[in-house]
Amino acid sequence: MIQITMPLNFLGTVYREIRQALIDMAQMFGLLEQPPEVQDKPRAKDLTVTDGEVVLDDVVFGYEPERAILKGVSLTVPGGSTTAIVGASGSGKSTIGRLLFRFYDVVDGAVRIDGQDLRDVTQDSLHARIGVVPQDTVLFNDTILYNIAYGRPDATRSEIEDAARAARIHDFVASLPHGYETQVGERGLKLSGGEKQRVGIARTLLKNPPILLLDEATSALDSETEADIQTALRMLGRGRTTVVIAHRLSTVADADEIVVLEDGVIVERGRHDDLLLRDGRYASLWYRQQAEEAAA
Ligand code: ADP
Ligand code: MG
Repeated sequence: MIQITMPLNFLGTVYREIRQALIDMAQMFGLLEQPPEVQDKPRAKDLTVTDGEVVLDDVVFGYEPERAILKGVSLTVPGGSTTAIVGASGSGKSTIGRLLFRFYDVVDGAVRIDGQDLRDVTQDSLHARIGVVPQDTVLFNDTILYNIAYGRPDATRSEIEDAARAARIHDFVASLPHGYETQVGERGLKLSGGEKQRVGIARTLLKNPPILLLDEATSALDSETEADIQTALRMLGRGRTTVVIAHRLSTVADADEIVVLEDGVIVERGRHDDLLLRDGRYASLWYRQQAEEAAA
């Protein structure tokens, strides 16, 4: 944690974007302690994103050779569309996110973005093109302004405020005595989980990546904050290829495709209404969650 609270002003913009994505991603998947396992190929090219199509082609993966976690997962996310991955804890959802970011290489099959195998592109270019919003956004001990602009220090004040508005955090910030100059983080104002997440969304809006990876918050947020975050996430996803790792099904009902993962295999896929009609795995997950929410 020490290295990520250091001031990083001396670093270049691109480096900061990549670093931000890495920090968010590491935070998201609890990989802060983990050294990168993969290396660029000697003649790796930069990733070129055109449509933003993401493809998992019969992906097999395991953290250990003797235990497969993903057992032949195929998935196409057309450019600009949203795919939600749902399923029980331990089914392999976050593993798909880690592979998309190439924290690991697949054992068999391939992950491609616009036809380019992730093993053939530079990691820096990949990380610069994917935006991630972790459940628990890392804030630097600095101003709110700095925290939103982080990753794009050349952003103008009005661009920053526009991003904050779209992320539904502007009114809150404007209500603070020091506004955007308010110090946050360990030595400043403590923000709630929902506020931090909206700062993270504003940050990602400014970065403007063509591909988004979201790990939905599991933490209980009050319903007003929840609605704000859903609105902010919808703004963020507009026009971008989005992969959502979802825990709460009520938030992914409008995804273009929902895939249900069970023990490393996709057992169902389709739109929300179709999946409910099918009355299978998704439907039973859905009715169980509805009942749990009604009871709570
Ligand atoms: P989900 O996000 O659906 O809850 P994960 O993709 O995090 O599931 O994990 C799938 C399986 O992989 C789990 O059994 C988990 O214990 C295992 N796993 C996750 N990370 C590691 C790791 N770094 N090393 C070994 N096993 C892991
Ligand atoms: Mg997970």
